Amino acid sequence: MSKIPDTFPCPNCQKQTAFKDSSLTDPRIQKYYEIKDQKWPLEASNNRKVQWYCKDCLQNQNIHIANWEKQELYGYLCFKWMPILYYQSKIKNCKMCHQDFTFSAAEQQTWYEEYRIYTDITAPKMCYSCRKKAKFIKSINEELQPLLQSAKIEPTKAKFQRIADLYLKLENPQKAGMYLAKAKQF
Ligand SMILES: [Zn+2]
Ligand SMILES: [Zn+2]
Repeated sequence: MSKIPDTFPCPNCQKQTAFKDSSLTDPRIQKYYEIKDQKWPLEASNNRKVQWYCKDCLQNQNIHIANWEKQELYGYLCFKWMPILYYQSKIKNCKMCHQDFTFSAAEQQTWYEEYRIYTDITAPKMCYSCRKKAKFIKSINEELQPLLQSAKIEPTKAKFQRIADLYLKLENPQKAGMYLAKAKQF
């Protein structure tokens, strides 16, 4: 039997790494791979079999180890869903403001493990502040649209005033002014 070396190159940064300085010491990872201490070097040397990082990579690249047992392992029909073992921050571009933003490892973990959103295929299309703004606009429109309909059928001063308020919240002073003028006609 050939001698097993004490260190292995990290699959991510290639730095020679000992078992104690690898993510394979994490109980969640050990449990998933059913790693036995004596067997680990063989598994670590075969990166196709075991996914691991050195501790520097975990820290510097903000990689989170997943609570894979919280993930839905039976996904589609009878196919067993591969769990995500690590979350790594991703840079995305916001479709609203076109700025780059970080979809952090911590956020991905919450999405995947708490909300059951598959972060490997789904990611936010907007940055946090644009998402917040879009949510706000949506909530205003949910009140505004039916109110506009109802004011057409049965106009009242109160309805026009409220419509003007809502347009102000949407930062549309022209429309707000138009509906305030209508309110004044009562
Ligand atoms: Zn590394
Ligand atoms: Zn944005």
